Amino acid sequence: MEKRNQLYAGKAKSVFATDDPDRLVIVFRNDTSAFDGQKVEQLERKGMVNNKFNAFIMGKLQAAGIPTHFEALLGDQEALVKRLDMIPLECVVRNVAAGSLCRRLGVKEGLELDPPTFELFLKNDALHDPMVNEYHARAFGWASDEQLETMKALTFRVNGVLKGLFAEAGMILVDYKLEFGLFKGEVVLGDEFSPDGCRIWDADTREKLDKDRFRQDLGNVIESYELVGHRLGINFD
Ligand code: C5P
Repeated sequence: MEKRNQLYAGKAKSVFATDDPDRLVIVFRNDTSAFDGQKVEQLERKGMVNNKFNAFIMGKLQAAGIPTHFEALLGDQEALVKRLDMIPLECVVRNVAAGSLCRRLGVKEGLELDPPTFELFLKNDALHDPMVNEYHARAFGWASDEQLETMKALTFRVNGVLKGLFAEAGMILVDYKLEFGLFKGEVVLGDEFSPDGCRIWDADTREKLDKDRFRQDLGNVIESYELVGHRLGINFD
């Protein structure tokens, strides 16, 4: 496999073509951004930590039968993935109220959500990723009925796998965001799963161990990501 030209640079990852039209290389950079890119910093080791974190989680999901784009770790900051046609929606599951849910509905952070909630957001920076529903998705052609059902089912299957994984390691998976795409017509989990795109709290102290440390200037951002990884059994060396 040969890495070729850069196709796209997002806020934290860059995507490169390869000599295989069905495969891409993702590079996890140290750039860390929040608030639609208004706050940006370089955090040393972040690219490596998120790359290895993502590889570990994708492996667990694949082992549980959830189709993902992940193929192999190529280096500290690089991974080989399937090339997907991305569906421009973010799927968010919440087990505990935090973040935009609290702002929108005025509920207290920490409220347990049973059953968990499922929300869709349109991936559109210029519009600040507005919340949308399944009717918007169908009307604007972002996803079909069948694709929406599959995305929702897979998103909840991910919850079934990861809630337990984090709980066994003394942590609460508060919420997370997933993105899906199509590989030869099949809905497959894409993007990444790392502390950049989820909320994780210590089960005893409720200390925040995810990107909220960056958003809220709590310090020790990457140290916390590594702590979460170590508790899960991930080796970053
Ligand atoms: O901001 P909000 O509370 O809606 O975020 C819900 C979850 O989705 C959080 O874990 C957040 O990190 C993640 N998210 C994300 N990328 C976005 C929006 C939310 O990773 N663009």
